[in-house]
Amino acid sequence: MPRALLAVLLTLAVAAGCAGRASAGGFSGGKLSVVTAFYPLQFLSERIGGDAVTVTNLTKPGAEPHDVELNPRQVAQVADAGLAVYLAGFQPAVDAAVEQEAKDRSFDVSSVVELLPYSGEESEDGSKDPHVWLDPVRFSTIAGALGERLAGADPAHAADYRARAKAMQNQLHDLDRAYAESLATCRRHEIVTSHTAFNYLATRYGLTQIGITGVSPEAEPSPRRLAKVAAQARATGTTTIFFETLVSPKVADTIAREVGARTAVLDPLEGLTDPRQDYFTVMRANLAALTTALGCTS
Ligand SMILES: [Zn+2]
Repeated sequence: MPRALLAVLLTLAVAAGCAGRASAGGFSGGKLSVVTAFYPLQFLSERIGGDAVTVTNLTKPGAEPHDVELNPRQVAQVADAGLAVYLAGFQPAVDAAVEQEAKDRSFDVSSVVELLPYSGEESEDGSKDPHVWLDPVRFSTIAGALGERLAGADPAHAADYRARAKAMQNQLHDLDRAYAESLATCRRHEIVTSHTAFNYLATRYGLTQIGITGVSPEAEPSPRRLAKVAAQARATGTTTIFFETLVSPKVADTIAREVGARTAVLDPLEGLTDPRQDYFTVMRANLAALTTALGCTS
């Protein structure tokens, strides 16, 4: 979205918000209003916030979050939030709205974990890889910090927030153990993925990510890139080309056909496509897909 248009929308949103604002001081109906930028942050906020918060997610279910745009109503929701939870550098429209409307009531989750540079060919511009939630250890650090931020925004429920954050950290610790134990027993360690979302996961568990399309899941890879990935897949004995749920599997299919591999889903959890699933069920499904693809024995 052009900057000028965004500025106009923000101004309209502020005007609209001031005219009929239902909430005061970041609370609505006695609950802390939490606005989250995309699914994994929504999940953490709902679990740790419990019934003391109402959570509004800015990336709609099934939508791809990288290029999310906000309408004036959503910008007003950011302005009304008691806490805005986001990841700076991932979604420019969210960054702009938080900067303008909620700078003093925001939690940038990238401020509490070390970010990695993008792996491979995407690293040229020096930007950091945002996909931290795919590392359960970093996600646990974020969970603990979020508990503290909620406690600060709503001191009356501080003990509850801290207790639920601790429970979440325990669950994430179990998930990390499951990943570490299973992925220590694999015959292969290379994962070919349609979008390079899995650098944190790969780094944590000793895998090598070979990305097809790069950082932006919608980008079309060049024939040269496709040929290179196919050669790497053959050289490493890859049996599975991974694609993700929110983007067409066409590119993964092309490579899979070329190298005689099958395709399978590895979900980067940027949005939830099935409301019966959650962060943990998808991460467990991802682990099952990885152990099958990599020939792991447990
Ligand atoms: Zn992504």
